[in-house]
Amino acid sequence: MIHMAKPQMGAEEKQAVLEVLDSGIIAQGPRVKAFEEGFAQMCGVKHAVATSSGTTALHVAMLAHGIGEGDEVITSAFTFIASANSVLYAGAKPVFVDIDPRTFNLDVNQIEAAITPRTKAILPVHLYGLACDMDPIMSLAEKHGLAVIEDACQSHGATYKGKKVGSFGTGTFSLYPTKNMTSGEGGMITTNDPAIDEKSRVLRQHGMRVRYYHDELGFNFRMTDIHAAIGLAQLQKLEQFNAKRQANAKFLSENLKGVVTPYVPEGCTHVFHQYTIRVPDGKRDALRAHLQEKGVGSEVYYPVPIHKQNYYVKELGYNQTLPETEKAATEVLSLPVHAGLTPSDLEVIVSAVNEFMA
Ligand SMILES: *Cc1c(COP(=O)(O)O)cnc(C)c1O
Repeated sequence: MIHMAKPQMGAEEKQAVLEVLDSGIIAQGPRVKAFEEGFAQMCGVKHAVATSSGTTALHVAMLAHGIGEGDEVITSAFTFIASANSVLYAGAKPVFVDIDPRTFNLDVNQIEAAITPRTKAILPVHLYGLACDMDPIMSLAEKHGLAVIEDACQSHGATYKGKKVGSFGTGTFSLYPTKNMTSGEGGMITTNDPAIDEKSRVLRQHGMRVRYYHDELGFNFRMTDIHAAIGLAQLQKLEQFNAKRQANAKFLSENLKGVVTPYVPEGCTHVFHQYTIRVPDGKRDALRAHLQEKGVGSEVYYPVPIHKQNYYVKELGYNQTLPETEKAATEVLSLPVHAGLTPSDLEVIVSAVNEFMA
């Protein structure tokens, strides 16, 4: 079976973990600090704050920006549930805007109409490893005095006009094992704003500036040094992992027939967290079954847009139509593209797809 994801673990990760176990400092310590510094450098920002997951990074980022009860945050419904749930955790309301059908990211032409006096932030999700159209998003944010919190959980190292995602506003990353790099579980907040950096650190650690004095309601969202050691080793390999994903994607796009291959806008480097095709004419699920039979894993990210999820409809009363989001949910199919694929895996994937579509 050719799987959708395969964490690439080498001697460096193993050695780094053993060193932590021998060091006597297991929880948040010097490796976390070193990982934060390395990650900030990779992103081209001044500060990075490590957390226990991408979800807690998003949660903390919302609170660090003072988002709460009565506030609205504009985002996409075509993403993993954690993007919007982080807004709910803060007590605020996610407001969904439809996607651009070519990029699967927020349609920047529809954002302004969704801005109200309650809007506090825009939460662009750089889906599948492709940056959102950040110039218009940053201009809108500036014009209306909004924060920008980027969900870069799928796009470590992706760039927009030469700038890394996570460096436009406040960035949030996941280090889950299926992502472009991993620490086991983990997350990262990136920012150039010293106040957001400080506030995030305090929220991560029980609202504590001086030991056992608690200024505010915080959490235990810390990363351990064990996780950070893995993350540091992976960070050294991120460029190489992304280059492999890009080469795999190039091969797939050059050889697949009868499906819509990923669109990469001018000025963007796509890091292909997912290689996602559109399968027209209602053939998606049958293609998926065929691939399964041929030993090729595939997955639908995501079959139910967030505004159609049971919790959002039944508990929160969402009742909205987002035509491009809903259409994409019925047509998208992600194929294996990870850094562990061999040339023969790629051949198998291509012939399995082409055979069915022919
Ligand atoms: C993975 C992911 C998250 C959540 O990250 P975790 O580390 O799993 O908590 C959030 N948003 C998006 C778009 C993701 O893909």
